[in-house]
Amino acid sequence: MTTVGILGGGQLARMLALSGAPLGLRFLVLDTVADACAGQFAPLIVGDYRDEAALAEFAARIDIATFDFENVPAESAQWLSARAPVFPSPRALAVAQDRLAEKTLFRELGIPVPEFADVPDRAALLAAVARIGTPCILKTRRLGYDGKGQFRIKTPADVDAAWDALGAQAANVGLILEAFVPFERELSVVAVRGRDGEFRTWPLTENWHVDGVLSMSLAPARADDALANAAFAHARALADALGYVGVFALELFCKDGALLANELAPRVHNSGHWTIEGSETSQFENHLRAVLGLPLGDTGMLGHACMLNWIGAMPDADAVLREPGGHWHDYGKEPRAGRKVGHATLRADTIAALARTVRRVGAALGRDDIVARAESID
Ligand code: AMP
Repeated sequence: MTTVGILGGGQLARMLALSGAPLGLRFLVLDTVADACAGQFAPLIVGDYRDEAALAEFAARIDIATFDFENVPAESAQWLSARAPVFPSPRALAVAQDRLAEKTLFRELGIPVPEFADVPDRAALLAAVARIGTPCILKTRRLGYDGKGQFRIKTPADVDAAWDALGAQAANVGLILEAFVPFERELSVVAVRGRDGEFRTWPLTENWHVDGVLSMSLAPARADDALANAAFAHARALADALGYVGVFALELFCKDGALLANELAPRVHNSGHWTIEGSETSQFENHLRAVLGLPLGDTGMLGHACMLNWIGAMPDADAVLREPGGHWHDYGKEPRAGRKVGHATLRADTIAALARTVRRVGAALGRDDIVARAESID
């Protein structure tokens, strides 16, 4: 019996455990909080990721380790990797944890990125704003996610406010300035690479964010083969350069029909949740297959899929459950403002039928924003 250890016990760990059950796998989760929602399906060790006693107990009870959370301290991943195989590797994790290292690697690999600059101090911020121009975004290099740790600089007059908001973090997590991209759309590639280097992607996904948080995904994205193939080539170059093992997502902006890379998420990704019902093999199952060295599953799509994130609180399930292609995922979390508490995936054979389903669900829930998006994809 193989036990997979997962660092981080949120919904990603929960969905990994659910998808691993038919493979005969057991799981053990390490999280800092006792009510981590993966703990409803897998034994949970509660401890800090830097706590060697907790890590030692975790290591002693698992055969292999992976992550549901990319901000596990790199030293902890390193420490663990001396005691159990860890996938993706601590090196891949370290690159993905640092927006500066990540964007530098993208550029080295010929993957287009928005203009960026390291911002070690206030003088560097002034110089970077002068070079890159406004609008631009000041971000923390590490520990930012879902739009947290970011400040939009609309005009040079905002530089002081940006430094007041984030300057104190320059010394500990570092700062990076990026050009603001007036993108038409956001896209992501969810891809998997096996231990033997086999590489597969799911169809390109189109994403809508609200306040920096993913709100809806559509797959396949409305994109021609040239655009999709360019995105897949970028993902492959990245995976090969890092010797990556497991599932990851490459988030991209699409502007004037061209791609610019935003970030690499070194784990299963919210924009790949639709793969549970919308693909032959889900991102969760393929992540487990990859890290365990098993053959990868087919990533082909079953029609068209739309994923709706439930943020803050779960809406009424009936609107989704009554749809023939409606699938409900409640993460078993307490409601809290801004928290991802669940999602729904809607599936249909054609994009027109999918748009109708999304519109019906949006109308039944009284969500004009969902109805408006349904109209935009029709
Ligand atoms: P991130 O945490 O970098 O993934 O950013 C969260 C969201 O903020 C992205 O999905 C975009 O919607 C937006 N965003 C981040 N960086 C930029 C940028 N350079 N230009 C425009 N929008 C951005």
